[in-house]
Amino acid sequence: MSENKSAEMYQVWQQDKDHYIHPWTDFSTFKETGSIVVEDSDNVHITDGDGNQYLDGIGGLWCVNIGYAREEMAQAIAEQIMKVPYYSCFGHHTTVPAAKLAAKIAELAPGNLNHVFYGCGGSVANDTAVRIIHFYFNQLGKKSKKKIISRIDGYHGSTYMAMSITGVKFDHIGFDIDEQLVHHISCPNPYRRPESQSIEDFCDEKVQELENKILELGPDNVAAFFAEPIMGAGGVIVPPKGYHKRTLDVCRKYGVLYVSDEVVTAFGRLGHMFASKDEFDIVPDIITCAKGLTSGYLPLGATILSDDIYEVISKPQAEGALFTHGFTYSGHPVSCAAGLKNIEIMERENLCGHVQEIGSYFEEQLKTLMDLPIVGDVRGKKFMVCVENVANKESKELIDPEAQVGNRIADHCQKRGLIVRPLAHMNILSPPLTLSKDNVDFLVSTLRESIVETMKDLK
Ligand code: PLP
Repeated sequence: MSENKSAEMYQVWQQDKDHYIHPWTDFSTFKETGSIVVEDSDNVHITDGDGNQYLDGIGGLWCVNIGYAREEMAQAIAEQIMKVPYYSCFGHHTTVPAAKLAAKIAELAPGNLNHVFYGCGGSVANDTAVRIIHFYFNQLGKKSKKKIISRIDGYHGSTYMAMSITGVKFDHIGFDIDEQLVHHISCPNPYRRPESQSIEDFCDEKVQELENKILELGPDNVAAFFAEPIMGAGGVIVPPKGYHKRTLDVCRKYGVLYVSDEVVTAFGRLGHMFASKDEFDIVPDIITCAKGLTSGYLPLGATILSDDIYEVISKPQAEGALFTHGFTYSGHPVSCAAGLKNIEIMERENLCGHVQEIGSYFEEQLKTLMDLPIVGDVRGKKFMVCVENVANKESKELIDPEAQVGNRIADHCQKRGLIVRPLAHMNILSPPLTLSKDNVDFLVSTLRESIVETMKDLK
């Protein structure tokens, strides 16, 4: 924190440094620098304890879709607190917002995905999917069908199971994962395919790899395939055209359930309420979502099940079992009230339409960065984008990790009033969906200046 800080902000900064164990943190640098204290926010901007304002190019963490500090969200949340701040939904109780939001999600979700289980976020939504899938196959008497297949560089969360499903190898260093249950296949990253391989052949290879993995493990042992429509934290990887449809076909062929992790992509980021059907033309068996469901105003995640799965798990149960899955905060009424108001705002303001329009402009403008010598790839769709930096554009050779190029660019952006997310040699952008054309222009020109500055640092 700078010298400008007020005494109160200095105290906050110190308390944080001394007592708060931050998620996903490099403690060595944290112990030196402490945190930026985010003290205020408005629409697409955040303000720190020194009064510096930043355009938030990452929407908190891919989540503040409707923008910051909406008064009507505060009102909806406060009204629900004054009515029923909490009640358990275990067994046969419910609350008005939990029921209404489940119906609204069912209305928006594709195909016959009509049944909603609530948790507190994306990791729990994915854990829930695994537990329900296992319960489902047990109910069907297919007790060996337990294994999960996911992809290298897929990100599915930070609980034990969600992190096991996650395929970002860096995230596993120093921690344990369940290697018996979860098996990874390779990442369908078109940018990193062999130069001589056509995109069609690359897609064939990736689809075949899934089929081979199912056959290797045995179709009777494989329960589900987990995939994000666009891989987010693994580097915004858009798979080749047809990949999702064809991997879904492979899953159907072997009775493997397809789980689409839409924790980032649902609720507008790609210009649709759900990307599975509207962007990639698939109806999965299960969709998990969180983040944009409440725009991060309160924690909430959902696991959305097809009629077919619900019918099996809700039948009189094998071996007298009860559906013993649930959390104290499943269907928390205040979070659900926030979800309902959030969706109402998105629909009323046609935020998906806005993303279709401004997101296309954003993509176009970001692509202009490709003229910079270290920018190897600009990829993604609408408000989910990544800039990948390389040492050599021809060979796609990486910049020495010691140079911390993603961090450097993010630091230069921050000095200029812009937050972007560093990810190794990349920078990720996932701004609030209310971003204007002027905001796009500021963001892209600031990112350009910061990359140029970083190039000077690297010399
Ligand atoms: N799935 C995806 C695709 C994510 O990007 C994330 C978080 O970024 C998660 C799951 C985990 O969500 P949460 O952090 O809410 O548990």
